[in-house]
Amino acid sequence: MSYRFLSKAGLLLHTLPTLIPSSCALCGIEDDALLCAHCEQRFFTHRPVRCQQCGISLHAFDAALPCAHCLQTNPDFDATIVATDYVAPVDQLILALKFGHRLAIAPLLARLLHDAMLQRQDASLPDILIPVPLGQQRLRERGFNQALEIARPLSRATGIALGIRLLERTRDTAMQAQLPLKERHRNIRHAFVPTIKGEQVFRNRHIGLVDDVCTSGNTLNEIAGVLKRYGATRVTNLIVARTPAQ
Ligand SMILES: [Zn+2]
Ligand SMILES: [Zn+2]
Repeated sequence: MSYRFLSKAGLLLHTLPTLIPSSCALCGIEDDALLCAHCEQRFFTHRPVRCQQCGISLHAFDAALPCAHCLQTNPDFDATIVATDYVAPVDQLILALKFGHRLAIAPLLARLLHDAMLQRQDASLPDILIPVPLGQQRLRERGFNQALEIARPLSRATGIALGIRLLERTRDTAMQAQLPLKERHRNIRHAFVPTIKGEQVFRNRHIGLVDDVCTSGNTLNEIAGVLKRYGATRVTNLIVARTPAQ
């Protein structure tokens, strides 16, 4: 059984199995978990080699080096940990959370992200987790910030403190995914500022920036730049799903 739902943006999204509490969110099979063992095995256990700085999946064998794009642009964040590529059908989990308001999916995404963190033994753990803030208008429209919904259970699972109200989005920027690549950087510039509390917290800290999806990395780079200007020593992006290279 499946249903269709409309996003706030009016986009007709793909069909998705009905999310009754005892069914898998991807295949709809009856299961106690939101994601059945079969779907988890099929879609989340294959871990491609990734650029350790931006998390993009690579074909190269040596991922210890940053990818060509990171070498060229030298982003302000230092590392990225990704649970999966943002591709069908796992993108449906995120769309269902964000536009279908299926908040129960957030702890599942947090667990998948935590699993990815555990796989990266080489990566040092952040001191504090900060969800990427939404603008006020989008927060009102959606009613919740999906990044915070994921960061909260991730904080509980990892024991890393959750930092809220440390960073503000000063304006509602157009959705990055809807813009051509070359306009994304301009769209996001100067969109984030620390709160007074944030200014005191960032200094000498390793910050873990949590978000559901990373598309171009421009938003994360903009935030990382702000955090570094306010004294953060290291920024690690913790992202559920990363758009693969085109
Ligand atoms: Zn399933
Ligand atoms: Zn890279």
